[in-house]
Amino acid sequence: MPIDNGHQADAPVIIVGAGLSGLATALGVALRGRRAIVLEAAELVGGAAAYSGGQVWVGGNHVQAREGIDDDLDGTERYVRAIAHDDPECLDEPAMLRWLHTAPEAVRYWEEVGAIRWAIIPGLADYHGEADGALGEGRYLTNQVIDGSALGEWRPRLRVSPFFPVGTTYADMFEKGRRLTQVDSDSAATGEHAGVPAFGVARGEAGPAVPAHADDPLTFGTGVVASFLSRVLQEDGIEILTEHRVTELLTEDGTVVGVRAADREFRGPVVLATSTYDWDPDLVRDFLGLEPDEFGSVGPDSIRGDGIKLARSVGGATARIPATSVPILPGWQLPSGSGYGYGPEYAMPHCIIVDRTGRRYCDDSYWVDIVAKTLAPGDRHLPFFLIWDDEHRRDYGLGGTPPGGAYPGGWVESAPTLRELAERLGVDGEELERTVTSFNLHAARGEDPEYGRGANALVVKWTGDPHHEPSPVLGALERPPFHGMRLRFVGTAIGSSGVHIDPDGHVVNDEGGPIDGLYAVGSCAALTTTGTGYNSGFALGRGLTLAYLVAAELGGAPVPHSSTARSART
Ligand SMILES: Cc1cc2nc3c(=O)[nH]c(=O)nc-3n(C[C@H](O)[C@H](O)[C@H](O)COP(=O)(O)OP(=O)(O)OC[C@H]3O[C@@H](n4cnc5c(N)ncnc54)[C@H](O)[C@@H]3O)c2cc1C
Repeated sequence: MPIDNGHQADAPVIIVGAGLSGLATALGVALRGRRAIVLEAAELVGGAAAYSGGQVWVGGNHVQAREGIDDDLDGTERYVRAIAHDDPECLDEPAMLRWLHTAPEAVRYWEEVGAIRWAIIPGLADYHGEADGALGEGRYLTNQVIDGSALGEWRPRLRVSPFFPVGTTYADMFEKGRRLTQVDSDSAATGEHAGVPAFGVARGEAGPAVPAHADDPLTFGTGVVASFLSRVLQEDGIEILTEHRVTELLTEDGTVVGVRAADREFRGPVVLATSTYDWDPDLVRDFLGLEPDEFGSVGPDSIRGDGIKLARSVGGATARIPATSVPILPGWQLPSGSGYGYGPEYAMPHCIIVDRTGRRYCDDSYWVDIVAKTLAPGDRHLPFFLIWDDEHRRDYGLGGTPPGGAYPGGWVESAPTLRELAERLGVDGEELERTVTSFNLHAARGEDPEYGRGANALVVKWTGDPHHEPSPVLGALERPPFHGMRLRFVGTAIGSSGVHIDPDGHVVNDEGGPIDGLYAVGSCAALTTTGTGYNSGFALGRGLTLAYLVAAELGGAPVPHSSTARSART
């Protein structure tokens, strides 16, 4: 139910974090005539959202309708239920329905107010193709290309993703493959060769207000944030203050009435939009059971669990999702030893993942299976290792090493035989040889009867090599020397566990009651809307939906519950 913050009605809304959810909340509030102050800890705005793939998952959205793609809320709901069924008590039924039923309205609203022009990502299937209600295309939205000049003096203050070839499009990437598009884009950017990527034509109709691209094209998550930011900058009622890390919530009689940041007090109802806990080792240990040498993050290092700690400081509850279903990815520590990287390389042909026994134990092209099996309670497979052959090095490279390049010293182990490689990595060599022999037998035919590598349509399309035959993700490990590396899990600013909110974004206490004056949007709020099921795009899709709901309430016009959602709440 909406909360009446009557006594704070004249105060601006204080938004903690200038990522996508925070910026969208500020916009929604300002469009309803209320002032908003956005406090950002970092020097740059955009948060992890600006680093992201910009996939915004919304079932039954209006862009599908205009593109002639059949979808509805019934199928969407069946899909979310099907993928969350492992642990039904992690799923908050009313929150799920509120999200699913509001999301199409929310993304339409953001387009209508000129915050973004949506396009469907062509041909991208739901993760879990086998699940009831899964769709082969249409639920992933992203922005059409926007030109950076729309941001004026804020352009240099926007984070730009190092993980996606910003400026190119999904269509380009599917044509060439994600890895090679990235490599080409990096070398074009550093002037190593003149391979300036072609810009694809995104699908979808033009919407209002966001300028078309000229010569600073921004795409993926960087583009999504740029679109919202450019619209935010048109509103006089929004102030953004960078380098203002919020360190304390101010309360009066149990109501949150403001924050402290950079030695100043800011008064008004507070919306936490700080994302998750990637860079806080204690919270990582608590929520994921991983030690610092087992986990890193590719999110900005200003994402350190502040929202969770701030909410707890005023009695806010935390909701937990098991580590086995958190979207963390196999990645690596950078050769410099500081920072982490990840990429689709583990899902490309000519490689496998094993544990110390030298055996495979999962569909090692599919992060969902990798996480579930590596972290299975009572049967963990840490440490885990990527093993590949020289064909993989020649065709794909790894991280900052381009195809055919030499790996930086000390980063990767290499050896003429699998047995010697295993010894260097501390893996059982005899077993590794057996594993590779058995894998190769089937991989050359594009099959993996043991673990089903290559069975997931999204993995094949999104991470594989589209030109590799007979399978984009399967190839034998035959060409010496062989290479190997210990993997780390890396977070992508989706911790799944987090601040406990009700369906409308109010932070709740241990008894489930709302804390007056305190809201949370985006990934700092636990993903109780989807429980143990995750699909790419849930984070941004839910973030924009919560931003819409919370902004409407704080702007004095709460979004009514739909009849379906209401009946399920009783
Ligand atoms: C490489 C990569 C790819 C991804 N791809 C996708 C994708 O395609 N689709 C998807 O749905 N998700 C994706 N994600 C995840 C998604 O980006 C995040 O879950 C999402 O950005 C969270 O949005 P948010 O608005 O909650 O927070 P963010 O966008 O992360 O912003 C949070 C902001 O809060 C600031 N902050 C933190 N603490 C404080 C404080 N105390 N005071 C003030 N400010 C503070 C941070 O500095 C940051 O700027 C990806 C993430 C990464 C890293």
